[in-house]
Amino acid sequence: MRIILLGPPGSGKGTQAQLLVQRYGIVQLSTGEMLRAAVAAGTPVGLKAKEIMAGGGLVPDDVVVGIISDRIDQPDAKKGFILDGFPRTVPQAEALDDLLKQKHLKLDGVIELRVNESALLSRVETRVAQMRERGEEVRLDDTPEVLTKRLASYRSQTEPLIHYYSERRKLSTVDGMMAIDEVTRAIHRLLLALGAVEPKTNARSAAKAAPVKKGAKKAAKAAKTAKKPAKKAKKAAKKPAKAAKKAAKKAVKKAAKKTVKKAAKKGAKKAPKKVTKRRAKR
Ligand code: AMP
Repeated sequence: MRIILLGPPGSGKGTQAQLLVQRYGIVQLSTGEMLRAAVAAGTPVGLKAKEIMAGGGLVPDDVVVGIISDRIDQPDAKKGFILDGFPRTVPQAEALDDLLKQKHLKLDGVIELRVNESALLSRVETRVAQMRERGEEVRLDDTPEVLTKRLASYRSQTEPLIHYYSERRKLSTVDGMMAIDEVTRAIHRLLLALGAVEPKTNARSAAKAAPVKKGAKKAAKAAKTAKKPAKKAKKAAKKPAKAAKKAAKKAVKKAAKKTVKKAAKKGAKKAPKKVTKRRAKR
C-alpha cells in the first residue's frame, strides 16, 4: 500500500499515519520528522532547514524530494508507505510522480483530511499540552504565530494539490472533524474500496460496513428452494424401492397361494385315486 495523507497542520495526519502503521505494518514517511531529525543531528540538510522551519516556511523542493527518494529505497519501505507532509507543493507532486515511475511503484491514492480551520489552533494547543504532560520536547513551530504562517503556506502552496490529485482521479476526502477512531474507520473503508488492503484485514468491521444486499438475499432463497426438489427427488427415489418391496411381497403371497392351490389340487387329484384304489380293493 502506498498512500499520501493530505491536510493542514493539526488535521490529524500524523495520528492517523501512526494508526495505519500499526494496523498494516507499513512505514510512515514524514518529511517533517526527517527534517527535525536532520536539524537535531546538525546535518547539512538540517542546517539549511532550521531557520525556514522555525519561521513556518517551506524547505526547498529539491531538498525534500531528495530525502524522500532515498527513504523510499530503504528495505523497510518495500512493503508500502504512508507519505505524511509530502508532497506539499505541485512541483513536489510532479517530482514524486517521476520518481515513483522510475522506481516502478504505483500510488494507491491520496486521502485528504478535511477540517475546519477554526478547530486547528485548539487542536495544536491540545497537542502541545499533551506533549508537555508526557515530558516531551515541544516543537518550536507549534506556537500560535508560527501556526498562522504554516496555515498560510498550506493554503497557498499545498491546497492546489487537492485539484492536482482530483484531476488525476487519485483524491478521496475524509471528514477530519470526526472522532479519531471514526476517521480511522473511514480511511480503512477507503483503502478497501481502492483495493489497497485485503478485506480480511478487518473482516468484522467490513461486514458491519456492508449491509446484506438484495442480491445476496435472493441467492440465499434460491439455495433454499433448490434444496426442496432435492428432497422430493430423494423421496421419489425411495418410492420405487417401496413399490418393488410391495410387489415382491405380493408376488411371494401370490406364489404361496398358488403353491397352496396347486398342492390342494394335487391333493384333490390324489385323493380320488386313493378312493378308487380303496374302491378297487373293495
Ligand atoms: P510537519 O511536521 O509536516 O508539520 O512539518 C514541519 C515543517 O517541516 C514544515 O512547517 C516545513 O517547514 C517543513 N517541511 C516538512 N515537510 C515539508 C515539505 N514536504 N516541503 C517543504 N517543507 C517541509
